[in-house]
Amino acid sequence: MSHEERYAFARDALDLRLLRLARFRHVPDDVLCELVTRDGLCFWVFDRDEMPEPVGDEDVDRRLAAYMCEGCPVADECLELEFRAAGERTTGVWGGLSESDRRALYAAWRWHRDNPDNGGARGAGP
Ligand code: SF4
Repeated sequence: MSHEERYAFARDALDLRLLRLARFRHVPDDVLCELVTRDGLCFWVFDRDEMPEPVGDEDVDRRLAAYMCEGCPVADECLELEFRAAGERTTGVWGGLSESDRRALYAAWRWHRDNPDNGGARGAGP
């Protein structure tokens, strides 16, 4: 697979992620929070005091996100909640994405949230 093909694949995956997050547009924060803390894999595996710390290194951060969040049934809810709570100041590993990946995705998430009638169209947005 060429570099361009890998880039297009990753971009399409993030587009799909944004479309899935749009389902939560009308879900209150407290409902999302309850779902994530009840069903999130990390909340089953770690005590809150022992949650892995963000390491600040993109590659390690991405591996940790992939390892910790693999198969989590509420990864989309977790990502939506983190965008709402922290916005572009997001840190750590949430929603199966490293903080640098979430920061890159945040502007598009925000645009879709602020422009719900245009949401979901490829090429729309910032
Ligand atoms: S997506 Fe990751 S960080 Fe979020 S609840 Fe699931 S395991 Fe925890």
